[in-house]
Amino acid sequence: MSSFLSSPASSHPLASYGWDTDWQAAFVPYAEQGLLPGRVIRVDRGLCDVVTADGVVRADTEFVVPRDPMKVVCTGDWVAVDPVGGDPRYVRTLLPRRTSFVRSTSSKRSEGQILAANVDHAVIAVSLAAELDLGRIERFLALAWESGAQPVLVLTKADLVPDAVTTAYLLADAEAAAPGVQVLAVSAEQGEGVDVLAAIVGGGTSVLLGQSGAGKSTLANSLLGADVMTVNAVRDVDGKGRHTTTTRNLLVLPGGGVLIDTPGLRGVGLFDAEAGVGQVFAEIEELAEGCRFSDCAHEAEPGCAVGAALADGRLSHRRFDSYRKLLRENRRLAARTDARLRDEMRRVWKARGAQGRAALEAKRGGWPV
Ligand code: GDP
Ligand code: ZN
Repeated sequence: MSSFLSSPASSHPLASYGWDTDWQAAFVPYAEQGLLPGRVIRVDRGLCDVVTADGVVRADTEFVVPRDPMKVVCTGDWVAVDPVGGDPRYVRTLLPRRTSFVRSTSSKRSEGQILAANVDHAVIAVSLAAELDLGRIERFLALAWESGAQPVLVLTKADLVPDAVTTAYLLADAEAAAPGVQVLAVSAEQGEGVDVLAAIVGGGTSVLLGQSGAGKSTLANSLLGADVMTVNAVRDVDGKGRHTTTTRNLLVLPGGGVLIDTPGLRGVGLFDAEAGVGQVFAEIEELAEGCRFSDCAHEAEPGCAVGAALADGRLSHRRFDSYRKLLRENRRLAARTDARLRDEMRRVWKARGAQGRAALEAKRGGWPV
C-alpha cells in the first residue's frame, strides 16, 4: 500500500491506464484504508471488471449504487476495491470524475445515461466519402464539449478525395464549424494522418464518436495496430487467480493513451448540452455580448450585434441557423426531462401520503408502526 503512495505515479503499474499524480492524491484516504485503486474497463448488470495493479478483478457495485443514474459506475471510472476477497470483490468508492459522457436514452424517455467517464479527447469521425454535414459536426461537437473532453475532428477516408486542393477546402469548411478544435484529414486505408491522431490521443483517454460508417472501427484498429477483437481477447486474471477471457470496453493503445468504446457511445444524442452548444458557437455568443439588450433574441431587435454580423457576412446564416436549431432541440429535451421529473415527484409524494395514512391508522388501531 505505502509503495503506491511513495512511488511516482508514472512508474505505477496503472500508469498506462491513465493513473497520474492527481488520481494518486485523490486516492490517498482509500490507500490508507488498504483499498486498491483500479479503473473500470467494463460494466454489466451490477458487476464490473476493474484493472488493478494485481490484474483484472471482478467487482460488485452494490455499495456504490446511487439514486442518480448519472452517478452509476461506468467504464473509465477510477474506483477503490477490496485488496483481497472473494469473487466478486466490492467497489468501495468512486473517485470524482473529471469528465463524463451522457446520453439521452431515447426520444421518448428523456433521462440521462452515463456512458463513459474521465475522457480527455473526444475524437469525432466524419467521412469525406459523403458531402460534409456541418450541422451534424456541430451537434457532435456540442456533445463533446458538454462532456468536458477536448474534441478532435477527424475527417476520415481522405484517400477518396480526388485532390489535395479539395481536401484543403473541406478542411477549411470543417474548421469554420469547429472553433478551438484541431481538425485533421486521415486515411486509415493508406495510413495517412494516423500517426498525427495517435500522437494526440497518446496522452490520456479517448472515445470515438460519429455516425455509423464514418470509419470509427477502422480508425480504432489502426490506432490499436491490431484487430480489436484479438486485443479484446487478452487473458486476464480474475479474483480467484484464474485466467479468463473478457471483453474490454477500455483498451490501452500501443502508442500510449487509452481508448474507450462502450456500446451506446456510438449512437449518442444531445442531452442537456446547452453549455456545449455555446462552446461550439463561441463566436456567436461573443457577438451576442455586443447586443444592446442582454436578453436579445437576435431576431429584429435594435442594436443586435448578431444581426449586424449576419448582414455584413461576418457570420454565416447556415451557422446561425444551426446554433438556433441545436439550442431549440436541447431545450425541448430539457423541458421533457423536467416534466418527467415532476411526474415522478408527484408519484413519490402520493405514495408517501398513502404510507403516512396507513401508518397513522395502524397507530390508532394499536398496531406497532
Ligand atoms: P464505423 O461504422 O464508424 O465503425 O465505420 P467502419 O470503420 O466500419 O468503416 C465503414 C466503411 O468505411 C468500411 O467499409 C471501411 O472499409 C471504410 N473505410 C474506413 N476507413 C477508410 C479509409 O480510410 N479509406 C477508405 N477508402 N475506406 C475506409
Ligand atoms: Zn442580438
